[in-house]
Amino acid sequence: MGEAIVRVENLKTYFPIRGGILQKTVGFVKAVDGVSLYINKGETLGLVGESGCGKTTVGRTMLRLLNKTEGDVYFKDRNVFELSKKDLRKIRPKMQIIFQDPYSSLNPRLTIGQIVGEALIDHGILPKSEIAGRVQEVLEICGLAPYHIRRYPHEFSGGQRQRIGIARALILNPEFIVADEPVSALDVSIQSQIVNLMCDLQQKMGFSYLFISHDLSVVKHISNRIGVMYLGSLVELAPKNELYNNPLHPYTKALLSAVPLPDPTLKRERIILKGDIPSPANPPSGCKFHTRCSYAMKKCSEECPQYKNVGGEHFVACHLL
Ligand code: SF4
Repeated sequence: MGEAIVRVENLKTYFPIRGGILQKTVGFVKAVDGVSLYINKGETLGLVGESGCGKTTVGRTMLRLLNKTEGDVYFKDRNVFELSKKDLRKIRPKMQIIFQDPYSSLNPRLTIGQIVGEALIDHGILPKSEIAGRVQEVLEICGLAPYHIRRYPHEFSGGQRQRIGIARALILNPEFIVADEPVSALDVSIQSQIVNLMCDLQQKMGFSYLFISHDLSVVKHISNRIGVMYLGSLVELAPKNELYNNPLHPYTKALLSAVPLPDPTLKRERIILKGDIPSPANPPSGCKFHTRCSYAMKKCSEECPQYKNVGGEHFVACHLL
């Protein structure tokens, strides 16, 4: 195991459900329900699962953009939730986010120079006279032209806007980036360009990613290890090749069966999951996947399976193992 830059221990993020005339708390949406993971320096951890499984909430809670309910997040051994406002502000430049939707995450009234340079002014990192030069430098490494600094977001294509979003995250020289579905709003033809750019930038600059996606084929290229989430919990996590070649959890097997094989003459049997993903406000008892699992036994609805290492940093939560 390398040097962990971020560690998450038994993280829970619940959102209250309010009801009645007095708007009292009547329950909780358990968006993240006991997630533990680490990300090494220079590593990419892919996090996948269906929409609503809690992967975005994990990423945002790790950056303290959301409050936790329980558990801890450490950035370089410092507990992010115990930092004072002043100390949090000091480490903010080191922990950045790339948003899913490059259309709505860029202020249409600001120029690209203002959008990308804003954080430098905010954190007082460079004198004003040096900001334009630094912005142009970062735009160039993200595949944009220095003259784009004077343009507005509406003048760019979707792929270019995501390059601007990446430049905004990189301007502060981060050490850890949460990439929240960074290519899912883009055309398939552009997706690989952006993923390749993100890989190249990581190799040059050495930061770590939490790369969130609902699509296992998107995370494959960029990730070192991949975690699979279901209803707020990790059900499997393993090094990339191990997960693709030897998936052990029935949910991972179903997700992988939908990923096309590189050789179009080969076909794999598609596993269709029954029913919809249950509500995280009222998750099933025992193994949360038991309502959709074709291997479910009596024990599965009664006992929560332990999340355990089955060897070689391969973790699974299933009674079959
Ligand atoms: Fe399926 Fe049971 Fe394993 Fe859950 S614990 S994935 S229901 S076999």
